[in-house]
Amino acid sequence: MASPNEERRILVVGSGAAGTAAAWSIARNPGLSVEVWEAEPQAGGVATSETVSTNGSPGVWLNDGVQGGSPTYRNTLWLHEQAGIAPRPVDFRVSFGRDDTAWNNTAATPLVRRLQPDIWRFGKLLEWIDRTEPLSALLPIGLVLRAGRFSKDFRDHMLYPLVALFFGTGNQTRRVSAALISRVFRDERLRLFDFDPDRLLSQRPPMFAFDRLSEIYEKMVEMTEATGRGAFHFNRPVERIERSPGGVVATDTRGAVEHFDKVVFACPANVALRTLSKPSLRERAVLGSVQYFHDITVTHTDREYMERYYDLDDERGDQYFIRTYPDATDRIEMSFDLSNYQPQLESSVYQTIFLDRASDESRWTMDEIDPERVLFSKPWIQFSHTWQHYVRVVPWLRFLQGRQNTYYAGSWTLANTHEVATISGFAAAYRLGAPYPVEGDELAMEQFQTYLGVVHGLEFEGPRATKPRPA
Ligand SMILES: Cc1cc2nc3c(=O)[nH]c(=O)nc-3n(C[C@H](O)[C@H](O)[C@H](O)COP(=O)(O)OP(=O)(O)OC[C@H]3O[C@@H](n4cnc5c(N)ncnc54)[C@H](O)[C@@H]3O)c2cc1C
Repeated sequence: MASPNEERRILVVGSGAAGTAAAWSIARNPGLSVEVWEAEPQAGGVATSETVSTNGSPGVWLNDGVQGGSPTYRNTLWLHEQAGIAPRPVDFRVSFGRDDTAWNNTAATPLVRRLQPDIWRFGKLLEWIDRTEPLSALLPIGLVLRAGRFSKDFRDHMLYPLVALFFGTGNQTRRVSAALISRVFRDERLRLFDFDPDRLLSQRPPMFAFDRLSEIYEKMVEMTEATGRGAFHFNRPVERIERSPGGVVATDTRGAVEHFDKVVFACPANVALRTLSKPSLRERAVLGSVQYFHDITVTHTDREYMERYYDLDDERGDQYFIRTYPDATDRIEMSFDLSNYQPQLESSVYQTIFLDRASDESRWTMDEIDPERVLFSKPWIQFSHTWQHYVRVVPWLRFLQGRQNTYYAGSWTLANTHEVATISGFAAAYRLGAPYPVEGDELAMEQFQTYLGVVHGLEFEGPRATKPRPA
């Protein structure tokens, strides 16, 4: 263990949004040093960029994982500003369904007019959900909607796809806590648009698209290493972590062994559990309860595929498209027209996301996409915000943080957004003695404070708390 005057060595496992933010924040502090071991050849995790060639745009980059967010992503935006990169504002345009299930945020469609009574009642239900929290936090929204006799069309064609799009809940939306859904619509600090009692969604909320994420992450690595107290090691997956009261011994997949004072797991929970040589019973229970789903994205230029399944309208210039499967209307497929918000793409490049291999692979229509027009495909693993996540994982994390020289970060610790991942990295760094770095932004700090309370069980004592946080 480091003596009081020695530098404390921290190992961060994984350099996605969480690990990179943690490392950047830690390395700014004399008295701390950080190594990041990352399995992949670059930083960013699921925030990836690729280079493609299309007719209109030869050799052009695109972001193909994380795409963007809302202006409430204050910690993320601030951190990227430090790297000299500003996001590109976009006004949000989305098209759901097609034909008699079509609706969008530009004009009322027949479906919206038909479901108007459900939409109005949903506004009342949101008020009830808010009043009955924390009880409603334990109720899945699907159950609440069925109990309230909301029509299947409203649930499957309007509400679930809308929430899935904004909160990345995929096909699990009906199992998401009712209280969380209510926050999407009513929480002053989180909501992205105003609930419209006539149309559900009628605004074009301001959003932003990330600039080239590979470059943003390269710059953050450079900034961290420039302090002389941070080093990133790529292509270096962690194989095993052994802990003792004196510190942490890490072994990589090539068998190289190094000693650290503390470890921050900023990788998926199942990877953390697998690498821990002696996880506690609590760690087994909490980390083992995070549920993962396997998805695939196909990035392509097949307009016929898009026209077959979505309501394409060049004049509206929608960015996001969602359809439900005809035999299971509570299951969705999502697509993006990347060129409608990544202006470096001069002709349409689409991305279609096929969700949840385990339960929906038989419905996937990816073999209908013309192979000649497929640019590339990628598998992804995502956790989902089911109500179980908020019962079995999130409330218990505070009892793991800081025990046995170990901290946990990553979007899975709360909600699947880049902003949460960034905040979680700052929070792990804060626990290790690094001050909260964002200055002069009340909302950013409030969000950090909330995260610290929920996931670390700590009150925020001010940004300049430079003493190492107690374990
Ligand atoms: C396809 C896709 C699109 C998304 N789009 C958006 C979006 O537009 N906006 C948004 O807000 N959120 C989006 N998300 C949600 C996203 O999960 C979070 O926003 C966030 O980027 C996750 O960051 P993270 O650091 O928690 O995890 P990750 O990015 O998953 O990072 C974990 C890191 O750990 C590394 N790792 C794994 N095992 C090991 C090991 N044994 N040793 C060392 N390293 C290891 C991984 O290689 C990875 O780099 C998207 C997610 C996906 C999958």
